[in-house]
Amino acid sequence: MLSLSNKASSIAQSEIRIMSVECDKVGGVNLAQGICDTEVPEPVQRAAIQAIQSRQNSYTRLDGIAALRRAIARKMHEYNHLDVDPEREIVVTAGSTGAFYSACMALLNAGDEVIVFEPYYGYHVNTLKALDCTPVYVTMHPPKWIFSQEQFARAITPRTRAIVLNSPANPSGKVFSREELEFVAELAERHDLFVITDEIYEYFLYDGHEHISPASLPGMAERTITISGFSKAYSITGWRIGYAVCDRRWAHSIGYFHDLAYICAPSPFQHGVTAGLEELKPEFYCEMAAEYRRKRDLLCSTLEQLGLKPSWPQGSYYVLADASPLPGDDSKAKAMYLLSQAGVAAVPGEAFFSGGGRNLLRFCYAKTDADLEEACRRLSRLSITPNVRQAVG
Ligand code: PLP
Repeated sequence: MLSLSNKASSIAQSEIRIMSVECDKVGGVNLAQGICDTEVPEPVQRAAIQAIQSRQNSYTRLDGIAALRRAIARKMHEYNHLDVDPEREIVVTAGSTGAFYSACMALLNAGDEVIVFEPYYGYHVNTLKALDCTPVYVTMHPPKWIFSQEQFARAITPRTRAIVLNSPANPSGKVFSREELEFVAELAERHDLFVITDEIYEYFLYDGHEHISPASLPGMAERTITISGFSKAYSITGWRIGYAVCDRRWAHSIGYFHDLAYICAPSPFQHGVTAGLEELKPEFYCEMAAEYRRKRDLLCSTLEQLGLKPSWPQGSYYVLADASPLPGDDSKAKAMYLLSQAGVAAVPGEAFFSGGGRNLLRFCYAKTDADLEEACRRLSRLSITPNVRQAVG
């Protein structure tokens, strides 16, 4: 009798994709998926097109082209305050997702426990589960998504092997402070744990919040795998270019597992992002953050007026809003109500928690101004009152 693997049956399809399909069915505005509808920077487009035309279309070295590794090393020095050897401590990957998967393959064993903050990014948790590791959750609490140091310390057992960090975070928008990271680093050192840190939103920062790479804290470089990528900053989610930066003892094996699944990251697109790193000035990233802050403000104030209280994000481009005023027994029912009545898709909060999230919805504001304004117009027309809940207009 043919059947799927045991693992396959335990991994569910992402709610984000499900909501996107539902949204398409009704012609809604999709604030569910972080697609990044904004323009690809000109140097990035130009260099990728030139690379295709000049026949840079073959496999590259398994850890990426030299020019890109050098450009990443420069960026790590200037922005992340980390000095890394581009020859042996950087692996260019198929998106940051490819980096996370390969790092987990290289460093974790079946049965290992891995600390994950919740609300979490589902791919982190499902990748761990797919590798037969056990995520152990430390819960962060709105509106600032603070976690209890006691709960964190209690979560560590003799089977713990790693901590997953994501700052700025999806879906909470939390930016971990230096004090919080120092606390995590202290426990990682005391218990000899790896830290796998997903920094894909490192440039999406608001209200003076600062991005700190955990690997830059004293003593942390050797145990930290820093993961990032270009999907978000350059609006190229479909290109699949990311990277892992870590001590050479781990980089080799991460590169090996990446090779096994992908062989290499797409060659012409490696050239495209190299030009982005070389040619785009710091102002590009600052202007991008300012543009996203405007988008955040528009969406969050609309949600506030509607009575769906948002936890204003400090970074990234998602917001979790309190959907308790909406009818429905769980967050899926609330999301479907919002889609049917307002024509706006959001992700049910339960997709980001091991148990909670029933009253939360996640909205993404990485949208063109026209789409975001249309979504906000539609949301503003929805009328929610405590007793009589109805849509008008
Ligand atoms: N990490 C986080 C936290 C994300 O939110 C996302 C996309 O939404 C990714 C990684 C995916 O990044 P990439 O396109 O580089 O694989």
